[in-house]
Amino acid sequence: MKIVRTIDEIRNQVKSWRKEGLTVGFVPTMGYLHEGHASLIRKSSEQNDRTVVSVFVNPMQFGVNEDLDSYPRDIEHDSEVVEESGGDIIFNPEPEEMYKSGFSSFVDMTVLTEELCGLSRPVHFRGVCTVVTKLFNIVKPDRAYFGQKDAQQLAVIKHMVSDLNMDIEIIGCPIVREESGLAKSSRNTYLSDKERESALILSKTIFMGMDMVRNGEKDCKKILDAMKKNIESEPLAKIDYVKIVDLNTMQQIDTLDRPALCAMAVYIGKTRLIDNFFTEQV
Ligand code: AMP
Repeated sequence: MKIVRTIDEIRNQVKSWRKEGLTVGFVPTMGYLHEGHASLIRKSSEQNDRTVVSVFVNPMQFGVNEDLDSYPRDIEHDSEVVEESGGDIIFNPEPEEMYKSGFSSFVDMTVLTEELCGLSRPVHFRGVCTVVTKLFNIVKPDRAYFGQKDAQQLAVIKHMVSDLNMDIEIIGCPIVREESGLAKSSRNTYLSDKERESALILSKTIFMGMDMVRNGEKDCKKILDAMKKNIESEPLAKIDYVKIVDLNTMQQIDTLDRPALCAMAVYIGKTRLIDNFFTEQV
């Protein structure tokens, strides 16, 4: 698998593909790739002639007390996953390549970033929007692939692309779970065996919420109360948020009368995990 580390190299590669008339798909990641990332890469390689996968732990999207330094990294394993999933090249820049000294331009979004993860991670989406814009400008893909696992991020990116007239099609892909139900995440590696067991409370509660919606419950408070009670029954779990929001605005709603997102962030010990479902998809 070819790994390039500079902006010039990846640009030249994409330019030469373009000259041949090939289409380009793009999968931005922070690496430590698992089956969730692989599903995005497979989708891209089905829909495009060439697929670029970026592996970049973006310092700008981490808050001061977050896990930037401990975030897991393994470029050799990532390279195998990209190869097996049909990707063509990895873009793996150093932070200094992406943020030259004196860097001072940012992409910021209001409204959609103010709820859910935006509340507990105030600098997060500014970092995400800025790095994704930069990566889009560098790679210039036809299509880019994002997981529904990070549902708010997917909504934010779709909105940014529309607001700023970026000529890129954004494709959302379903959450990939372990057999146990636990949503695959690079951060699952932080969990001890005992915590991994406790972490199943997230998916169990998501499935419970889905059942309530499937059975016709429209009252968000009733759904959320039941979900919160379930999570609180797990001693190692501490709720950051469990909310139901309008899928287009990410603002909280009381009744399920429009497409909505039910999303949660829960600490298992020190590890913050997220999970969600779209109410339209139950
Ligand atoms: P990350 O490396 O965590 O920044 O994720 C890179 C991309 O992979 C994002 O678009 C994520 O939403 C997506 N992703 C991560 N985990 C999963 C999963 N379990 N299922 C589907 N997509 C995922």
